[in-house]
Formats: sequence, structure tokens, C-alpha cells
Amino acid sequence: MDFAVTERAAARDFTEPPPSKVDLAAIDVHTHAAVMPETAHLLHAARLYGIETLVVITREWIEPARLADGWDGRILVAPQLDYRQLDDADAFVRTNVARVEQAHQLGARLIKFWFTPRFYATTRLRLDDARLEPIFARMEALGLGALVHVSDPDVWFERVYTDRSLYGSKEEQYPQLEAVLARHRGIRIIAAHMGGDPEHLDHLQALLDRHPNLFLDTSATKWMVRELGRQREAARQFIVRNADRILFGTDQVVTAGSSLVRYTSRYWTHRLFWETDRVCPSPVEDPDCDGMPVIRGLDLPEEVLVRLYRTNATRVLGI
Ligand SMILES: [Zn+2]
Repeated sequence: MDFAVTERAAARDFTEPPPSKVDLAAIDVHTHAAVMPETAHLLHAARLYGIETLVVITREWIEPARLADGWDGRILVAPQLDYRQLDDADAFVRTNVARVEQAHQLGARLIKFWFTPRFYATTRLRLDDARLEPIFARMEALGLGALVHVSDPDVWFERVYTDRSLYGSKEEQYPQLEAVLARHRGIRIIAAHMGGDPEHLDHLQALLDRHPNLFLDTSATKWMVRELGRQREAARQFIVRNADRILFGTDQVVTAGSSLVRYTSRYWTHRLFWETDRVCPSPVEDPDCDGMPVIRGLDLPEEVLVRLYRTNATRVLGI
């Protein structure tokens, strides 16, 4: 265990990135920000780590310039839908078709769908609900993609989602995703957090094999480091095999009162995890990890990193 590498980087607040194997302008397809001063920290950290384009998920449409005042990179806003009118299907569809059209007109490439077990518990809405059909149809016509979060870590189903009548089982999270993938082959769907199932790469492989319009992102630092690092060799093989289907994302979330180190430490962790074979303490605390969180690097080949960091995103997002 290389304690020193983490300690040295921490002493400089992770502002000195370890060298990258590839020299390119990377794209982070999964971040969250709002119009608040701390967003500048995320953008500064991204720039330090060679990321020039960020997909920023927002509650509603926000002009990219309002998020990135004076920043020299590119922001692609991915708004969520408005779920306040679920009881009135016509109003729900009208409001959200308008939102999708506006976002598309102003440069969005993705719409975000946060269909976690928690969301289901409060709304009883699944992704394949009839009320969403006209919205997906409009997205397909406009060439918009979807960034979809279904499911959650295995350990949450063991410890948090114990009431199955409220949340469903982990297996029950997937039919909604597969239904939309099958119905809308023209929509490129990025399933966030390695499809919500980094614990079960065989399941992800089956999903990818069944649905050519499915892609995965690498976001959720703690979860990926914990579960892919646990099965290093299998994870590496899976990513190499599916190198055209996986996009780099972090799930950095801008929070009030945060400082630069929140964002640099996460980008640093991703850099070591994907690009090196180091085994060292992770600077990102992980309440779901039994014991100290450890980075066990996957040491991906250069040609795979190029696709993950950039060319898959430019193709999938059409940028
Ligand atoms: Zn997210």
C-alpha cells in the first residue's frame, strides 16, 4: 500500500495532477452544478486535470454562460424534467415537451433522468411509464440523448432499501430501462454509474449486448473505486472489451461552502484509478466501505483511455 503518494498529493490539495498517459482535451459527461460561487472551484479543478468540456446536470434549464462565467471550457447543460404535474398527464407532457424543445434549441445534448429507488418510492414513476412516452418520442425526433440513473449500489439494497414494497429489489430496477432502450433505438442512453451495477459486470455485458443504443458512464467516485477495484482484472477486461461504450464521468457535485480540494481530490482519484496500477488510500471518504477506502488502479491502455475520455463522448453526444 503506497501511503506516501496520497499524502504527498494531499499536502498540495491535489492541485498537481499525476501525469496522464494521454494528451487530449477530456470530457466529463456527469457533473452537477448550479449558479453559485463554488461552481468556479469545479471548473478550475477540471481545467487543472485537462478537462475542457463538462456535462452539467441541472434541475431546470440554465444558460451555460451563467454557470461558467469567464471559464474558457465548454459546458453542456443536461436539465431534468419537471415532475410537479405528474397527476395531470396532459400538463406534465406539455410542460416537459416544451422543456426538451427549449433545451435542444439552446444546445443541450442530453436530458437527465434520475430514476433511483428513492425517486420511485416518492413518485411511483418508472422510466417506461406512458406519461414519459411523448417526451421520449420528441427527444428521439430531435436527436437528444438521455443520461439515466437507475438502481443503486448492492450495499444500499442490503442496508437502506430494505422495504422492498417501497423500493423494489435491485433486479426490479432494470425492466424500465430495457423497455425504453428497446422502444427507442434512436435514443442514445447513457446509464450512469456503470449502469448502476458495477458489482455485476456479467449483467452489464448482457445489457450492452442486447441494446446497441446503451452506453455507460464511469461516474460516482467512491462506488466505482470500491466495486471495480474489488475485481480489478475483470473490470479491466470489461472496459477494454467495451471500450466504445463507456464514457468518462465523475458525478462531481457542487456543494455550498465547498473548496477547491473537494473537486481536485476526486479528479485525482479518477486519474490514479483509471490510468495507473497503484494501490493507495483514497482521499474520498466512503461510508459504504468496510475499512479504509483504497484505490486499486486499473491501468487502462492508452487507446482505451482516448475513447473513454473523449472520442466516445464526441460521438455519442454529437459534438
Ligand atoms: Zn449524478
